[in-house]
Amino acid sequence: MSLRPNRLRRQLSQAALAVLALSSTVFGINPANAQDKVLHLYSARHYPTDEVMYQNFTKLTGIQIKRVDGDDAGIVARLKAEGAASPADVVLLVDAARMAVADAQGLFRPIKSAKLDAAIPAHLRAAPTPEGVTWTGFSTRARVIVYDPLRVEAEDVATYEQLADPKLKGLLCTRSGSHPYNLSLFATVIERLGDEKGQAWLNGLVANMARPPKGGDTDQIRAVASGECGVALTNSYYIARLVKSDKPEDRKVMERVRVVFPNQATTGTHVNIAGAAVARHSKNVDAAIQFMEFLASPFAQDYFANGNNEFPTAKGVTIDNPALKAIGGDNFKADTIPLSVVAKNLTKVQQMLDRAGYK
Ligand code: FE
Repeated sequence: MSLRPNRLRRQLSQAALAVLALSSTVFGINPANAQDKVLHLYSARHYPTDEVMYQNFTKLTGIQIKRVDGDDAGIVARLKAEGAASPADVVLLVDAARMAVADAQGLFRPIKSAKLDAAIPAHLRAAPTPEGVTWTGFSTRARVIVYDPLRVEAEDVATYEQLADPKLKGLLCTRSGSHPYNLSLFATVIERLGDEKGQAWLNGLVANMARPPKGGDTDQIRAVASGECGVALTNSYYIARLVKSDKPEDRKVMERVRVVFPNQATTGTHVNIAGAAVARHSKNVDAAIQFMEFLASPFAQDYFANGNNEFPTAKGVTIDNPALKAIGGDNFKADTIPLSVVAKNLTKVQQMLDRAGYK
Protein backbone atom coordinates (compact mmCIF):
# COMPACT_ATOMS: atom_id res chain seq x y z
CA MET A 1 0.00 0.00 0.00
CA SER A 2 2.78 2.37 0.87
CA LEU A 3 4.41 1.73 -2.50
CA ARG A 4 1.87 3.57 -4.60
CA PRO A 5 0.19 6.22 -2.52
CA ASN A 6 0.15 8.75 -5.35
CA ARG A 7 -1.54 6.41 -7.72
CA LEU A 8 -4.10 5.45 -5.13
CA ARG A 9 -4.78 9.07 -4.34
CA ARG A 10 -5.13 9.85 -8.04
CA GLN A 11 -7.57 7.02 -8.53
CA LEU A 12 -9.58 8.09 -5.50
CA SER A 13 -9.76 11.68 -6.56
CA GLN A 14 -10.75 10.68 -10.07
CA ALA A 15 -13.53 8.56 -8.61
CA ALA A 16 -14.61 11.44 -6.41
CA LEU A 17 -14.66 13.82 -9.35
CA ALA A 18 -16.71 11.39 -11.39
CA VAL A 19 -19.29 11.17 -8.61
CA LEU A 20 -19.24 14.92 -8.22
CA ALA A 21 -19.67 15.52 -11.95
CA LEU A 22 -22.54 13.07 -12.01
CA SER A 23 -24.40 14.56 -9.07
CA SER A 24 -23.76 18.12 -10.24
CA THR A 25 -25.02 17.32 -13.72
CA VAL A 26 -28.12 15.75 -12.25
CA PHE A 27 -28.84 18.98 -10.39
CA GLY A 28 -28.04 21.17 -13.37
CA ILE A 29 -24.97 22.87 -11.93
CA ASN A 30 -21.87 23.39 -13.97
CA PRO A 31 -19.30 21.06 -12.37
CA ALA A 32 -16.38 23.01 -13.83
CA ASN A 33 -17.28 25.93 -11.58
CA ALA A 34 -18.44 23.95 -8.62
CA GLN A 35 -15.71 21.41 -8.05
CA ASP A 36 -13.13 23.81 -6.65
CA LYS A 37 -15.56 25.85 -4.62
CA VAL A 38 -15.34 25.84 -0.86
CA LEU A 39 -17.71 27.56 1.50
CA HIS A 40 -16.30 28.58 4.86
CA LEU A 41 -18.85 28.24 7.60
CA TYR A 42 -18.32 29.72 11.07
CA SER A 43 -20.81 27.91 13.25
CA ALA A 44 -21.98 28.25 16.84
CA ARG A 45 -24.37 25.37 16.21
CA HIS A 46 -23.10 21.85 16.38
CA TYR A 47 -25.48 18.95 16.30
CA PRO A 48 -24.78 15.55 14.76
CA THR A 49 -27.65 16.05 12.30
CA ASP A 50 -26.06 19.22 10.89
CA GLU A 51 -23.42 17.06 9.24
CA VAL A 52 -25.98 15.26 7.08
CA MET A 53 -27.46 18.60 6.12
CA TYR A 54 -24.08 19.96 4.97
CA GLN A 55 -23.27 16.81 3.04
CA ASN A 56 -26.53 17.20 1.19
CA PHE A 57 -25.64 20.77 0.25
CA THR A 58 -22.36 19.52 -1.21
CA LYS A 59 -24.19 16.78 -3.09
CA LEU A 60 -26.63 19.31 -4.54
CA THR A 61 -24.15 22.02 -5.50
CA GLY A 62 -20.68 20.49 -5.57
CA ILE A 63 -19.61 23.14 -3.07
CA GLN A 64 -17.53 21.75 -0.20
CA ILE A 65 -18.12 23.05 3.30
CA LYS A 66 -15.27 23.85 5.65
CA ARG A 67 -16.46 24.46 9.13
CA VAL A 68 -15.02 26.42 12.03
CA ASP A 69 -16.85 25.56 15.24
CA GLY A 70 -16.97 27.79 18.27
CA ASP A 71 -19.37 29.31 20.73
CA ASP A 72 -21.17 32.49 19.79
CA ALA A 73 -18.73 34.82 21.55
CA GLY A 74 -15.72 32.95 20.15
CA ILE A 75 -16.97 33.21 16.60
CA VAL A 76 -17.71 36.91 16.90
CA ALA A 77 -14.25 37.51 18.42
CA ARG A 78 -12.61 35.54 15.63
CA LEU A 79 -14.46 37.45 12.89
CA LYS A 80 -13.40 40.74 14.46
CA ALA A 81 -9.79 39.64 14.81
CA GLU A 82 -9.59 38.39 11.22
CA GLY A 83 -11.19 41.50 9.76
CA ALA A 84 -11.03 41.80 5.97
CA ALA A 85 -8.73 38.75 5.80
CA SER A 86 -11.41 36.48 7.25
CA PRO A 87 -12.19 33.44 5.09
CA ALA A 88 -15.69 33.23 6.61
CA ASP A 89 -18.55 33.11 4.12
CA VAL A 90 -21.52 32.22 6.29
CA VAL A 91 -21.90 32.77 10.03
CA LEU A 92 -24.32 30.67 12.09
CA LEU A 93 -25.27 32.11 15.45
CA VAL A 94 -27.89 31.40 18.06
CA ASP A 95 -30.21 34.11 19.41
CA ALA A 96 -31.52 37.39 18.01
CA ALA A 97 -29.64 39.42 20.62
CA ARG A 98 -26.31 37.90 19.56
CA MET A 99 -27.18 38.40 15.90
CA ALA A 100 -28.00 42.02 16.64
CA VAL A 101 -24.70 42.60 18.45
CA ALA A 102 -22.64 41.03 15.65
CA ASP A 103 -24.63 42.96 13.08
CA ALA A 104 -24.06 46.25 14.90
CA GLN A 105 -20.33 45.55 14.75
CA GLY A 106 -20.54 45.34 10.97
CA LEU A 107 -19.71 41.64 10.77
CA PHE A 108 -22.52 40.78 8.34
CA ARG A 109 -23.12 41.62 4.72
CA PRO A 110 -26.65 42.60 3.65
CA ILE A 111 -27.99 40.33 0.92
CA LYS A 112 -30.86 40.29 -1.50
CA SER A 113 -32.60 36.99 -2.11
CA ALA A 114 -36.11 36.68 -3.50
CA LYS A 115 -36.11 33.04 -2.34
CA LEU A 116 -35.42 33.99 1.27
CA ASP A 117 -37.89 36.87 1.09
CA ALA A 118 -40.55 34.40 -0.01
CA ALA A 119 -39.63 31.56 2.36
CA ILE A 120 -38.87 33.19 5.71
CA PRO A 121 -41.30 35.50 7.55
CA ALA A 122 -39.90 39.04 7.77
CA HIS A 123 -40.33 39.23 11.56
CA LEU A 124 -37.72 36.46 11.94
CA ARG A 125 -35.06 38.40 10.03
CA ALA A 126 -33.04 41.58 10.48
CA ALA A 127 -34.76 44.80 9.48
CA PRO A 128 -34.38 45.33 5.72
CA THR A 129 -32.32 48.25 4.40
CA PRO A 130 -31.86 49.40 0.79
CA GLU A 131 -28.72 47.16 0.70
CA GLY A 132 -30.71 44.11 1.76
CA VAL A 133 -31.14 41.98 4.87
CA THR A 134 -28.26 40.83 7.08
CA TRP A 135 -29.35 37.92 9.30
CA THR A 136 -32.12 35.38 8.79
CA GLY A 137 -33.65 33.02 11.37
CA PHE A 138 -33.77 29.38 10.26
CA SER A 139 -35.25 27.86 13.40
CA THR A 140 -37.18 29.15 16.38
CA ARG A 141 -37.31 28.22 20.03
CA ALA A 142 -40.06 29.33 22.36
CA ARG A 143 -39.30 30.97 25.72
CA VAL A 144 -41.77 29.18 27.94
CA ILE A 145 -42.79 29.16 31.60
CA VAL A 146 -42.30 26.12 33.80
CA TYR A 147 -44.11 25.95 37.13
CA ASP A 148 -44.75 23.73 40.12
CA PRO A 149 -48.48 22.87 40.16
CA LEU A 150 -48.29 22.23 43.92
CA ARG A 151 -47.34 25.85 44.64
CA VAL A 152 -48.60 27.88 41.68
CA GLU A 153 -51.97 28.09 39.91
CA ALA A 154 -51.88 27.78 36.12
CA GLU A 155 -53.98 30.94 35.76
CA ASP A 156 -51.34 32.95 37.64
CA VAL A 157 -48.57 32.13 35.14
CA ALA A 158 -50.39 32.44 31.83
CA THR A 159 -48.40 35.50 30.71
CA TYR A 160 -44.90 37.01 30.96
CA GLU A 161 -46.49 40.10 32.49
CA GLN A 162 -47.88 38.04 35.39
CA LEU A 163 -44.38 36.94 36.41
CA ALA A 164 -44.05 40.41 38.00
CA ASP A 165 -47.27 40.08 39.99
CA PRO A 166 -46.69 40.15 43.78
CA LYS A 167 -48.71 36.92 43.95
CA LEU A 168 -45.54 35.15 42.82
CA LYS A 169 -43.31 36.70 45.48
CA GLY A 170 -40.39 34.45 46.40
CA LEU A 171 -41.19 31.96 43.64
CA LEU A 172 -39.48 33.13 40.43
CA CYS A 173 -36.19 31.76 39.12
CA THR A 174 -34.33 32.75 35.96
CA ARG A 175 -30.81 32.61 34.61
CA SER A 176 -28.96 35.94 34.42
CA GLY A 177 -31.08 38.81 33.14
CA SER A 178 -28.25 39.79 30.81
CA HIS A 179 -28.17 36.41 29.10
CA PRO A 180 -29.15 36.85 25.42
CA TYR A 181 -32.20 34.57 25.84
CA ASN A 182 -33.60 36.91 28.50
CA LEU A 183 -32.43 40.10 26.80
CA SER A 184 -34.32 39.11 23.65
CA LEU A 185 -37.51 38.31 25.56
CA PHE A 186 -37.30 41.46 27.69
CA ALA A 187 -36.64 43.62 24.61
CA THR A 188 -39.92 42.48 23.05
CA VAL A 189 -41.99 42.75 26.24
CA ILE A 190 -40.64 46.27 26.91
CA GLU A 191 -41.27 47.28 23.29
CA ARG A 192 -44.97 46.71 23.96
CA LEU A 193 -45.19 47.94 27.57
CA GLY A 194 -43.18 51.11 27.01
CA ASP A 195 -40.27 52.23 29.17
CA GLU A 196 -42.13 53.14 32.35
CA LYS A 197 -44.26 50.00 32.60
CA GLY A 198 -41.34 47.98 31.29
CA GLN A 199 -39.12 49.16 34.12
CA ALA A 200 -41.87 48.41 36.65
CA TRP A 201 -42.19 44.92 35.15
CA LEU A 202 -38.46 44.23 35.50
CA ASN A 203 -38.54 45.57 39.06
CA GLY A 204 -41.43 43.21 39.75
CA LEU A 205 -39.49 40.23 38.40
CA VAL A 206 -36.58 41.04 40.70
CA ALA A 207 -38.95 41.46 43.66
CA ASN A 208 -40.38 37.98 43.00
CA MET A 209 -37.06 36.11 42.82
CA ALA A 210 -36.70 32.98 44.90
CA ARG A 211 -32.91 33.32 44.62
CA PRO A 212 -30.41 35.47 42.75
CA PRO A 213 -30.23 34.49 39.06
CA LYS A 214 -27.77 31.68 38.41
CA GLY A 215 -27.23 28.64 36.19
CA GLY A 216 -28.67 27.84 32.77
CA ASP A 217 -32.22 27.16 31.69
CA THR A 218 -32.11 23.46 32.59
CA ASP A 219 -30.97 24.40 36.10
CA GLN A 220 -34.14 26.51 36.47
CA ILE A 221 -36.35 23.58 35.42
CA ARG A 222 -34.60 21.30 37.91
CA ALA A 223 -34.94 23.93 40.64
CA VAL A 224 -38.71 24.05 40.07
CA ALA A 225 -38.87 20.25 40.29
CA SER A 226 -36.83 20.25 43.51
CA GLY A 227 -39.10 22.85 45.13
CA GLU A 228 -36.46 25.58 45.34
CA CYS A 229 -38.40 27.66 42.80
CA GLY A 230 -42.10 27.81 41.98
CA VAL A 231 -41.88 29.21 38.48
CA ALA A 232 -39.11 29.72 35.91
CA LEU A 233 -38.32 30.68 32.33
CA THR A 234 -36.67 28.32 29.87
CA ASN A 235 -36.24 27.73 26.17
CA SER A 236 -38.49 24.99 24.84
CA TYR A 237 -35.69 22.72 23.55
CA TYR A 238 -34.29 22.21 27.06
CA ILE A 239 -37.66 20.79 28.07
CA ALA A 240 -37.77 18.60 24.95
CA ARG A 241 -34.35 17.21 25.91
CA LEU A 242 -35.66 16.24 29.36
CA VAL A 243 -38.77 14.71 27.78
CA LYS A 244 -36.56 12.60 25.49
CA SER A 245 -34.10 11.66 28.21
CA ASP A 246 -34.06 8.09 29.45
CA LYS A 247 -32.49 9.03 32.77
CA PRO A 248 -34.95 8.37 35.62
CA GLU A 249 -34.06 11.66 37.34
CA ASP A 250 -35.00 13.62 34.19
CA ARG A 251 -38.31 11.77 33.96
CA LYS A 252 -39.01 12.69 37.57
CA VAL A 253 -38.35 16.35 36.79
CA MET A 254 -40.83 16.33 33.92
CA GLU A 255 -43.46 14.52 36.02
CA ARG A 256 -43.18 17.21 38.66
CA VAL A 257 -43.37 20.39 36.53
CA ARG A 258 -45.91 21.89 34.13
CA VAL A 259 -45.15 23.85 30.96
CA VAL A 260 -46.98 26.96 29.76
CA PHE A 261 -46.67 28.64 26.38
CA PRO A 262 -47.29 32.18 27.66
CA ASN A 263 -49.49 34.94 26.26
CA GLN A 264 -51.72 32.65 24.19
CA ALA A 265 -54.71 34.95 24.67
CA THR A 266 -52.74 38.07 23.79
CA THR A 267 -49.46 38.61 21.94
CA GLY A 268 -48.30 34.99 21.62
CA THR A 269 -45.28 33.23 23.08
CA HIS A 270 -41.90 34.86 22.53
CA VAL A 271 -39.79 32.92 20.05
CA ASN A 272 -36.11 33.45 19.43
CA ILE A 273 -34.04 32.24 16.51
CA ALA A 274 -30.97 30.36 15.46
CA GLY A 275 -29.90 31.84 12.18
CA ALA A 276 -27.31 32.71 9.63
CA ALA A 277 -25.81 35.68 7.83
CA VAL A 278 -23.31 36.18 5.04
CA ALA A 279 -19.99 37.31 6.50
CA ARG A 280 -19.00 40.89 5.73
CA HIS A 281 -15.79 39.92 3.94
CA SER A 282 -17.00 36.77 2.17
CA LYS A 283 -15.21 36.12 -1.10
CA ASN A 284 -17.99 33.71 -2.17
CA VAL A 285 -21.11 35.79 -1.80
CA ASP A 286 -23.11 33.89 -4.42
CA ALA A 287 -22.34 30.52 -2.85
CA ALA A 288 -23.03 31.96 0.60
CA ILE A 289 -26.48 33.14 -0.51
CA GLN A 290 -27.03 29.76 -2.16
CA PHE A 291 -26.27 28.12 1.21
CA MET A 292 -28.68 30.44 3.03
CA GLU A 293 -31.38 29.55 0.49
CA PHE A 294 -30.59 25.88 1.00
CA LEU A 295 -31.18 26.33 4.75
CA ALA A 296 -34.72 27.48 3.93
CA SER A 297 -35.48 24.30 1.93
CA PRO A 298 -37.81 21.73 3.54
CA PHE A 299 -34.96 19.18 3.70
CA ALA A 300 -32.56 21.47 5.55
CA GLN A 301 -35.33 22.92 7.71
CA ASP A 302 -36.15 19.47 9.03
CA TYR A 303 -32.53 18.87 10.07
CA PHE A 304 -31.92 22.38 11.30
CA ALA A 305 -35.02 22.40 13.50
CA ASN A 306 -35.05 18.80 14.71
CA GLY A 307 -31.32 18.77 15.44
CA ASN A 308 -32.02 20.86 18.53
CA ASN A 309 -35.75 20.23 19.04
CA GLU A 310 -36.65 23.56 17.49
CA PHE A 311 -39.32 24.78 15.09
CA PRO A 312 -38.73 25.44 11.38
CA THR A 313 -39.10 29.04 10.16
CA ALA A 314 -39.79 28.50 6.44
CA LYS A 315 -43.41 29.03 5.54
CA GLY A 316 -45.38 25.82 5.06
CA VAL A 317 -42.68 23.57 6.55
CA THR A 318 -43.74 21.41 9.48
CA ILE A 319 -41.74 18.84 11.41
CA ASP A 320 -42.72 15.86 13.46
CA ASN A 321 -41.10 15.97 16.89
CA PRO A 322 -42.92 13.89 19.52
CA ALA A 323 -41.06 15.56 22.42
CA LEU A 324 -42.26 19.00 21.34
CA LYS A 325 -45.73 17.64 20.74
CA ALA A 326 -45.78 16.25 24.27
CA ILE A 327 -45.42 19.76 25.73
CA GLY A 328 -47.85 21.45 23.34
CA GLY A 329 -45.19 22.69 20.95
CA ASP A 330 -47.10 21.52 17.89
CA ASN A 331 -49.91 23.98 18.41
CA PHE A 332 -49.23 27.36 19.98
CA LYS A 333 -49.50 30.98 19.00
CA ALA A 334 -46.07 32.53 18.55
CA ASP A 335 -45.40 36.24 18.92
CA THR A 336 -44.85 37.88 15.53
CA ILE A 337 -43.25 41.09 16.78
CA PRO A 338 -40.23 41.75 14.53
CA LEU A 339 -37.10 40.38 16.22
CA SER A 340 -35.32 43.45 14.89
CA VAL A 341 -36.75 45.28 17.94
CA VAL A 342 -34.24 43.26 19.97
CA ALA A 343 -31.42 45.13 18.25
CA LYS A 344 -33.16 48.44 18.78
CA ASN A 345 -33.80 47.92 22.51
CA LEU A 346 -30.73 46.00 23.59
CA THR A 347 -28.73 48.81 25.22
CA LYS A 348 -31.81 50.28 26.84
CA VAL A 349 -32.88 46.94 28.29
CA GLN A 350 -29.43 46.38 29.76
CA GLN A 351 -29.61 49.78 31.47
CA MET A 352 -33.10 49.00 32.76
CA LEU A 353 -31.85 45.68 34.16
CA ASP A 354 -29.08 47.51 35.99
CA ARG A 355 -31.63 49.93 37.44
CA ALA A 356 -33.82 47.02 38.57
CA GLY A 357 -30.83 45.32 40.17
CA TYR A 358 -31.45 42.29 37.94
CA LYS A 359 -28.18 40.35 38.02
FE1 FE B 1 -29.39 27.20 24.67
